[in-house]
Amino acid sequence: MQEITIEQVRAKARELQQKGQKWHVHALFPGCVFSKQPDKHAFVLEDRSSDLTYVTYSDKGFAELSHELLKLRYGEKILEKPANEARQDISANPLLNQCREFQRNQLPWHHHMLFPDCIFNEHRGKWNIVLEGGEPAICINELSDEEPLALLRELEIGYFERDLPDHRNK
Ligand SMILES: [Zn+2]
Ligand SMILES: [Zn+2]
Repeated sequence: MQEITIEQVRAKARELQQKGQKWHVHALFPGCVFSKQPDKHAFVLEDRSSDLTYVTYSDKGFAELSHELLKLRYGEKILEKPANEARQDISANPLLNQCREFQRNQLPWHHHMLFPDCIFNEHRGKWNIVLEGGEPAICINELSDEEPLALLRELEIGYFERDLPDHRNK
């Protein structure tokens, strides 16, 4: 994993998107099970087309960069619930309910969308959403064969409402 600056991460992501390469990112919070520097925030960019991985560290979080690159990766409307298509009902999703409980009790939490080919995914070939949170911390994996976009959307909205309160204006 190569350490680069936050500006290099931003530029690299744009370049990969422009070239139509496979890429995705992860925001790793302090204490995250995937982080090598548990006292820092880390932001990881995976270039899956070339099998190269980049990381940048900070004492602050990466909500703004996460928001920017989420829209770059999925399009401007990723945080909007699709109106004209039958939305997959995830109101009873156990991982989402656990996240709501963390929110209600104001406990720390964060999530990861692990792509089937992600370096952090211990269940390669499956989509895997990971939720970490609580005190003491617990970690939940939810595996699926289909890209879990509805669940991802709910978690991203919760993340930005907490860490980037004016995200709707960006
Ligand atoms: Zn984590
Ligand atoms: Zn990954």
